[in-house]
Amino acid sequence: MPHSTVCLSFDFDALSVWLAYDRVTPAMLNRGEYGARVGVPRILELLRRREVPATFFVPGHTVESFPDETESILAAGHELAHHSYAHVDPSGQSPEDERADMERALAALERIGVRPLGFRSPSADLSAVTLELVEELGFLYDSSLMTDDYRPFRPRIGDRVSRDSPLERGREARFWELPMCFELDDWVHFQFNFDPYRKGGAAPSHVLEIWRAELDFMDANVEGGVLTYCMHPQVIGRGHRITMLDQLIGHCLDVGARFERMGDVAQRLG
Ligand SMILES: [Zn+2]
Repeated sequence: MPHSTVCLSFDFDALSVWLAYDRVTPAMLNRGEYGARVGVPRILELLRRREVPATFFVPGHTVESFPDETESILAAGHELAHHSYAHVDPSGQSPEDERADMERALAALERIGVRPLGFRSPSADLSAVTLELVEELGFLYDSSLMTDDYRPFRPRIGDRVSRDSPLERGREARFWELPMCFELDDWVHFQFNFDPYRKGGAAPSHVLEIWRAELDFMDANVEGGVLTYCMHPQVIGRGHRITMLDQLIGHCLDVGARFERMGDVAQRLG
């Protein structure tokens, strides 16, 4: 039976995710900076020790605000992928603004020598034109959708559906979807916030139980499945959580799963 693949992905949002809130304060921005100051070095040390490759989705705003930390990810051999410029949810952008934001982020990555293979939408949401843009700009994969769980697939572009009319399927995209889900997203479980209120604060043992069970189910039931974990340096970087990630990596290795950068998965799929 083909082996299971695990993709560790880190959305290095830093300040950008907080700037997308309606009301941002200096204290919120400092919470974002923790991801660059503490989270990234701590994650890189763990990945180095475990000899595991990973994918970092980095907004252009982060590339330009934290060039040394971004460079350290590249220098360690990990993949840098596209995560918008300023972490604005595309579902609320005009098509012109969305294109300009995407191109500005591409330019920021190109200035450090990166032609990204993959895209993840900020906030895991889409506008009506996002997938077309992803295809037009030549990405090999997207990782924003929850249509499937363990099987990469070609997402559809141009679906038509409403309350009055059933689904009319669009065409298949030329790129792969490497699906994500909120259950495997550290922000959802751990990140506290006052306004808008987010409970956060989950025990890592609770999250590890969920994250391990997803891998175990896939490994037992899906041939050659691909499981994507989505994390944020400013969230997973805390001591008790990085310990959990270390334990998760150990479990994946114990069951014989292999770690791959998402771009390598997309290239392997052809
Ligand atoms: Zn993000």
